Amino acid sequence: MQSLFLYNSLTNKKELFEPVKEGYVGMYVCGPTVYSNVHLGNVRTFMSFDMIYRYFLHLGYKVRYVRNITDAGHLTDDSQEDKISTKARLEQLEPMEIVQKYTTDFHQILQKFNFLPPSIEPTATGHIVEQIEAIQTILENGLAYEVNGSVYFDVLKYNEKEHYGILSKRNIDDAIENTRALDGQTDKKNPQDFALWKKAEPEHIQRWNSPWGIGFPGWHLECTVMSTKYLGEEFDIHGGGMDLKFPHHECEIAQAQACNHVSPVKYWLHGNMLTMNGKKMAKSTGNNILPEEIFTGDNHNISKAYAPSVARFFMMQAHYRSILDFSDEALSASEKGYNRLMEAMDAVNSLQIGATSTVDISSWKEKCYEAMNDDFNTPILIAHLFEAVKWINLILDGKESVNEADLDLLKTTLFTFTFDILGLENAQKSADSSDRVEGLVELLIQMRKQARDNRDWALSDKIRDELLALGVQLKDGKDGTTFSLN
Ligand code: AMP
Ligand code: ZN
Repeated sequence: MQSLFLYNSLTNKKELFEPVKEGYVGMYVCGPTVYSNVHLGNVRTFMSFDMIYRYFLHLGYKVRYVRNITDAGHLTDDSQEDKISTKARLEQLEPMEIVQKYTTDFHQILQKFNFLPPSIEPTATGHIVEQIEAIQTILENGLAYEVNGSVYFDVLKYNEKEHYGILSKRNIDDAIENTRALDGQTDKKNPQDFALWKKAEPEHIQRWNSPWGIGFPGWHLECTVMSTKYLGEEFDIHGGGMDLKFPHHECEIAQAQACNHVSPVKYWLHGNMLTMNGKKMAKSTGNNILPEEIFTGDNHNISKAYAPSVARFFMMQAHYRSILDFSDEALSASEKGYNRLMEAMDAVNSLQIGATSTVDISSWKEKCYEAMNDDFNTPILIAHLFEAVKWINLILDGKESVNEADLDLLKTTLFTFTFDILGLENAQKSADSSDRVEGLVELLIQMRKQARDNRDWALSDKIRDELLALGVQLKDGKDGTTFSLN
């Protein structure tokens, strides 16, 4: 097994990765709040963890990757309502219609960027019972209190024995300054206390019965409950964007300690922000770009459309803990680099085998691993991949040579890092293959028409039925036959 070092936000140090259980990795990443379309900033954080997931899988670990869907409880800053309920009321939809719509959008977008699906994708609303049980435990342990149908975590009491602020490196006084007094939260004993359960006002649509009356769970609690349920009281990795460190992740640590008396996570990993015009991409400020706009080019910040893999390459060219600024120029530069990489990968198949090697593929491969083992340093990895691109072009020109074994190693290493670990795809190839499918189906449609003209119903039905079995549905209309892929 490779020695992998990762930067732990809990200790602010790079540490050797040593799993809780040999050979296994448990990883939890905070998922989206599904009340609007994900923007490219959200995608960046999830993509960093997709790359990290891919690398652990590549190293041979059995990984259980849990990424939740927040479909209740995430409060907006300016009201005591949660984001889903507010949107449902504004759009006059069932909250679950909002949830379904944006969960589907989230999945479709991630699929276009070639994400691997997580092992488990639990929802907050599917775990209300567990959240109520956790609140009861925290109450029994004396670290929460009930007021007017709401339950709050008692941060000062917790801080007598533990350190609230251990992750975000704050002391309790900073925490007070950074916690806005939300209206309706005057029930709290102290401003830094946070809601575990909130009483639902009559207009609040998402509501559940509890020992404290009708209400809904606090946002921080769902992640504690779902990570513990699926990964245990102590697990390996918890990830999310930097902006979630405080208060969300700080509260997660406090809740888990209050329930189970152990620090829940060995390695806290935080991805940095995607910015545009120097400012954080965010839903609330309008300073954002949607993935769909990248694919169509339909946004005034960009001059043209870009393939999902180009956007993925652009993100992988930055280290996950560095700020990355989005711009048309940067994306266009990435497109050139990406095309050069793909061209070299196409060319590698037609390289001549030499008698000897003038390039050292084995130590190049080691350097690729060293980059990834150094806190998933994808920009350094990509620099090494371009060293291979340079060699491929020199070999093509007859200026360097590789023997058969080295050529094999070059090919497999290059393909593994580019496709399996960085998750890139050859955009040209996938476009080509869908053109090919379309051409083949059109050909079969013409052959079926001929069969029908010849009254050969058996053949015409066979073509229709077998295409259907392959997921291609033919539709006969006035203007001929069209098809759709299921
Ligand atoms: P949300 O749906 O707001 O809970 O956010 C989902 C994820 O996206 C969280 O992990 C956030 O940290 C992350 N995120 C939000 N904005 C950005 C951004 N501009 N750049 C990178 N990650 C972001
Ligand atoms: Zn979370």
